[in-house]
Amino acid sequence: EARAVIDGNGEVRGHRLTEKEIECVLLKERVKQVLPSAIASSEFAFVLQSKVDMNSECHSAELLMRWKSPSLGLVSPAVFIPVAEDGPEILALSQLALNKACEIISNVKQKGKDVTIAVNISANFLTHSTFESALLAVTTKYNVEPKRLILEITESALIKDVAFATSLLQKLSLKGFQFSIDDFGTGYSSLAYLQKLSIHEIKIDKSFVMNLESSVTSQSIVKIIIDLSRAINARVVAEGVETNWQAEFLTSHGCDVLQGFFFHKPQDTEKWQAAVNLGEKSTLIV
Ligand code: C2E
Ligand code: MG
Ligand code: MG
Ligand code: MG
Repeated sequence: EARAVIDGNGEVRGHRLTEKEIECVLLKERVKQVLPSAIASSEFAFVLQSKVDMNSECHSAELLMRWKSPSLGLVSPAVFIPVAEDGPEILALSQLALNKACEIISNVKQKGKDVTIAVNISANFLTHSTFESALLAVTTKYNVEPKRLILEITESALIKDVAFATSLLQKLSLKGFQFSIDDFGTGYSSLAYLQKLSIHEIKIDKSFVMNLESSVTSQSIVKIIIDLSRAINARVVAEGVETNWQAEFLTSHGCDVLQGFFFHKPQDTEKWQAAVNLGEKSTLIV
C-alpha cells in the first residue's frame, strides 16, 4: 500500500525503497496534511542551544523549533521544515521564530543584559519578497538592535540567486544583522561567493565534527574551513560537539565558538533566560 502512495505521488524510483524511506515519505505526506491546522492551533514551541564563545563575554544561543503534534507526536524540524518550505507554511513558521528571537532579546535586555540569538532562515524565506520587511518590522516592534540577531542560512539558500543574495546580505549587514553559513561544507560551496558575500560566521557541519577522531580527512577538512574563515574574517563555529576530544581538537586549531551536547543540549527558553540573568556564563571545560 505504501508503494502505491509513493507511485501515485509521481515519484519515479529505480530501486525498491527501504522500509525507512517509505516511512519517511509517508510521514512527510501526513505532515503536509496537518501542518496548516497545526499552525492555526499554535502547536509549535522553541528551545535554545548555547553557542559557547571563547572570545566573547556575550551570551549567545541558537533558536530551534519544536513541534509536538497531537496526532503525530514529536516531529523533527529536519522533517517538517522542508515540507513547510514547499508551501506558504514556511512564512508563518519563520515569523514565529523571528518573533520569539526578538522577544527573548528584548526580555533579557530589560533585565540589563545583552544576548545574541541565532535564527535558522530557510532558503524559501530568505528569497521571499516579504523577508526584508518582516525582519525590519519585528526588530522595530521589539526594539532589538540588528546586531543581536544572527541569521543562519545554508549554502543552498545563497546559490539560489547569487546576485540577489549578495545585495540582500550587503544591505542587511550594513544595518547590523549578522549572517552565518550553516552546515558549511555540505552544500555547493563556491569560494568566489564567499569573498563577495557579507558573512560574519561559518558553522562547520556536524558530520565533520562527528568523524574528527576517526578520520584524518575530517581533521584536514576542519582545519581548512578554519583557515578559510580566517581568510574572510569570519568567526568559525563547530556544531555537534559531543566529546572532550573534539572540543580540544577544535579549540587548539583556532575554532572560536563551540556548540553541541558536550556543552549544552537545547533547553527551555525560560530556563536559558534565567541562567543568563544569574550570570551563568557557559564556561569551557577543556
Ligand atoms: P541546524 O540549524 O544545523 O541545527 C543543528 C541540529 O543539530 C539541531 O537539531 C540540534 O538539536 C542538533 N544538535 C545540536 N548539538 C548536537 C550534538 O552535539 N549532536 C547531535 N547529534 N546533534 C546536535 P534540530 O533542532 O532537530 O534541528 C534540525 C534542523 O532543523 C536545523 O539544523 C535547522 O536546519 C532546522 N530548524 C530548526 N529550527 C528551525 C527554525 O526555527 N526555522 C528553520 N527554518 N529551520 C529550523
Ligand atoms: Mg542552525
Ligand atoms: Mg547546522
Ligand atoms: Mg542542519
